[in-house]
Amino acid sequence: MENKKRNKIAEVLGFYKNSPYVSAYQQDANIRSSIFMSTIIIALELFMILRYVYKYIIVGKEGVTVTVSSFFKYTRSYWILLAVGIMMLVYGCLYFTGKIRKNRVVSNILITVFAGVCLNFGIYVSFSDFGSGRMIICFLTMVLYVACLLIWRPYLSIILLTLISFEFYRYIDTRAVNKQGEIIGVSSGDRINYVTFFISLTAIAISIYHQRHREAIEAEKLYKASVTDDLTGISNMHHFTQRATSYAAEHSDVLYIFFNIENFRTYNNQMGYIRGNEFLTGFGRILDEVFLEKPHARQVDDHFVALTLNEDAQEEISLVQKKLKEATDYEVYIELKAGGYIPGDKLEDADARACIDKARYAAGSIKNRPGELYREYDEEMDKGFRQREYVLNNIDKAVKEGYIKVYYQPVMNSDDEKLCGCEALVRWIDPVVGFLSPGAFVPILEESRQIHKLDRCVYEIVCRDIRHSFDNGIPVVPASLNFSRLDFELMNPIEVLEELVTRYDIPRELLHVEITESALTSDVAGLKRDMDIFHEKGYAIWLDDFGSGYSSLNVLKDFEFDLLKIDMVFLKNFGQTENSKVILKNIIRMANEIGMKTLTEGVETKDAVDFLEETGCGRLQGYFFGKPMPYDDFVGKLKSGEFTVSERPIAK
Ligand code: C2E
Ligand code: MG
Ligand code: MG
Repeated sequence: MENKKRNKIAEVLGFYKNSPYVSAYQQDANIRSSIFMSTIIIALELFMILRYVYKYIIVGKEGVTVTVSSFFKYTRSYWILLAVGIMMLVYGCLYFTGKIRKNRVVSNILITVFAGVCLNFGIYVSFSDFGSGRMIICFLTMVLYVACLLIWRPYLSIILLTLISFEFYRYIDTRAVNKQGEIIGVSSGDRINYVTFFISLTAIAISIYHQRHREAIEAEKLYKASVTDDLTGISNMHHFTQRATSYAAEHSDVLYIFFNIENFRTYNNQMGYIRGNEFLTGFGRILDEVFLEKPHARQVDDHFVALTLNEDAQEEISLVQKKLKEATDYEVYIELKAGGYIPGDKLEDADARACIDKARYAAGSIKNRPGELYREYDEEMDKGFRQREYVLNNIDKAVKEGYIKVYYQPVMNSDDEKLCGCEALVRWIDPVVGFLSPGAFVPILEESRQIHKLDRCVYEIVCRDIRHSFDNGIPVVPASLNFSRLDFELMNPIEVLEELVTRYDIPRELLHVEITESALTSDVAGLKRDMDIFHEKGYAIWLDDFGSGYSSLNVLKDFEFDLLKIDMVFLKNFGQTENSKVILKNIIRMANEIGMKTLTEGVETKDAVDFLEETGCGRLQGYFFGKPMPYDDFVGKLKSGEFTVSERPIAK
């Protein structure tokens, strides 16, 4: 209890250590007050000097001859005050415009000198005012400035005010004389006023201090919230870019590092959200330990960044990896990936975020390469990076200006080798960079979660083309549309297709939904729900690229697909190995047995056609029958008879 009281008293008197932020905040406030005060003082002293010049030199007073030495003698205190006022003002302006380093000791010395001169002046002027029977306004003004405008620790305010007030009181009470040379003394009524004044002023000074102190703490909280990452407590990107810009300006040969924790998503899923967060916080601590005062931050999710000296980078990255290994339980396999970028003289290299983008790109280039920890951004990567930037910056324009085109690849009925459908495949034909295949932009748009913009555009073009065929008496075959896994997250694909078939008045059986195998890994329940709705509405759903990636037969059991599209990997080096044939044969048989139709992609040779026909694959797609081509070419082939629409129903 005693202790608590003592602590409280110490707190009221200001006996505690302030954080660097609070100290700096108070110092800024003091300099600001001093600028304000020095401006008033400069104006006032100039006025006093000019008044003296006007009164005694220009107009002149009888019996008073002004010489240079007498002029400076009588205006001496004005000049002194003017000089310290200008000193304070200049320092304050340099301080706030960033022209000089904010130095605590220098600032405190200057403020103390300025305050001391002001107080002295107050005492000096008011002493003679008191003697002449005038009020002690000057003393009061100066004390108010020093005690209330400046922030002192309360114990200092008390000492200062006690000394000043009692010294001034003693001085006027015992020394001030009237014109007759008699000591005037302070009247007993005023004595009470002086004591009241002293007590009130001390209380005000203490209360102002505490108010300002609370303000500073609030400001510190806000500042911390604005510069730190909520989860890990290390810097956020906003703070990182600020710090990185000055760090890069102060050091030559710096290197930006981007860290990605590969497989973190799996860690999160398996270990739970809380453990995942602990993991990220722990990684933030590792960066604190390794990079110390160097800028480092969490960018987003499991992405972290740092700026260091090129010569230290390798060692630091290895240390981060070592500490991460030590800190991780091996229940889930995770791997650290780091990318580096050394900024050059280019204008864009002054932007920390642009540099981090490149370091990130470098880290991305060793994705899924076990054992590779670090890769530095190089010339070769620059091409890919710029293409990526181009895609991201121009996708909206490409959609709007019609640079997105749809090519159609024929699909044949294996019974009669006649046309039974087509696949809509996107192309980007750009006036600046020319022809782009989907491989050059689809993965980028998926990664940046913008693929739905492209797909919506493709579906609309397909519907428009089908309507055009209907309206012009051109034979129409069903078109299959590629859906990305993210389309189901980023838009409502059912609503999109429904709106289009209604607007263009197209039978739903003419549109097939192609979903790739890899799409079936996340949000299974949601995807199943959407697939059921697609089926209810009358769209067929095809499983694309079966066998290309993480094939799991479960997929066939759990989801209801109308058709299995067998990936072209099985037709690679067709004829050279028997294995592919056995696998293909069995996949097709299995699909037929469970009531799924089949299509094999990548059919390039007559041998492959014969084999697939024999095996019972219902449809064939590949360069043997035709490459993807523009709508006009496709229609041309229909008109010329090169493609004829199959009359026979597709049995399998
Ligand atoms: P996919 O859906 O499996 O499309 C088949 C790809 O195989 C097409 O490549 C096609 O040109 C190619 N191909 C067809 N027959 C043969 C052949 O006999 N031999 C060889 N070597 N290749 C053949 P493309 O058009 O470059 O498309 C690549 C992938 O891009 C597509 O694979 C699909 O996953 C994606 N994609 C294409 N268009 C779209 C789209 O509109 N939206 C989305 N989200 N993805 C699309
Ligand atoms: Mg496809
Ligand atoms: Mg495919």
